Amino acid sequence: MAADIISLEAITKVYGRGEAAVRALDSVSVRVHAGDFVAVMGPSGSGKSTLMHILGCLDVPTTGSYRFGGEDVSRMSERELAHVRNRSIGFVFQQFHLLSSMTACRNVELPLLYRAARDRRAAALRALDRVGLSDRVNHRPNQLSGGQQQRVAIARALVTEPALILADEPTGNLDSTSSREVLGVLRSLNDAGHTVILITHDATVAAVARRVLTMSDGTLREAA
Ligand code: ADP
Ligand code: MG
Repeated sequence: MAADIISLEAITKVYGRGEAAVRALDSVSVRVHAGDFVAVMGPSGSGKSTLMHILGCLDVPTTGSYRFGGEDVSRMSERELAHVRNRSIGFVFQQFHLLSSMTACRNVELPLLYRAARDRRAAALRALDRVGLSDRVNHRPNQLSGGQQQRVAIARALVTEPALILADEPTGNLDSTSSREVLGVLRSLNDAGHTVILITHDATVAAVARRVLTMSDGTLREAA
């Protein structure tokens, strides 16, 4: 049995105070095993991005506890959270957030700036190979299709060998062919042992995961 990489216990997130307070997460508890592929599905406003920010150590819960890789991250300082993020989490967003003046390879190298240049390039080329873009390493974003740009973003998320890949609506800006391509890449990374959490409002996208959780009004449950 694989160890839990994620353990959330009674997580609540409240934005604002008093009359204006919004309870975006309401006692969310969930565990995710290392090597799993989980989709979190729910309509707009249900709390998905709030959950993603907490899972990704971009924000902390108002109450409850979050253990990531055995470490309690729910009370960490901003500086400690940044360290966990950089070391252990690869992010993929709806907007690809690639730098337009840089080649695919240079974009993928960015998270490795602390390494020597030759090691950076070798690691970036390996990551691009894993997303099927060995023949596009010197292309700039505007010379690539949407699906290819998102695969570059996935390679950039992968290049640090993170324990968790967290993707928030990764196919939200893509046509159906590109969506299939990107979901195929996430699936193959999971087959190779990576833990993936995919956030989406789309049931057909969620269907590629091994396990589907649904979010509604700030609560999370296993899909029927
Ligand atoms: P989703 O990603 O599923 O669309 P969100 O997590 O973005 O949902 O939002 C959940 C709820 O929290 C919504 O009612 C939203 O309006 C509210 N919310 C999100 N972020 C903030 C914020 N920074 N300040 C106040 N309310 C917020
Ligand atoms: Mg959202």
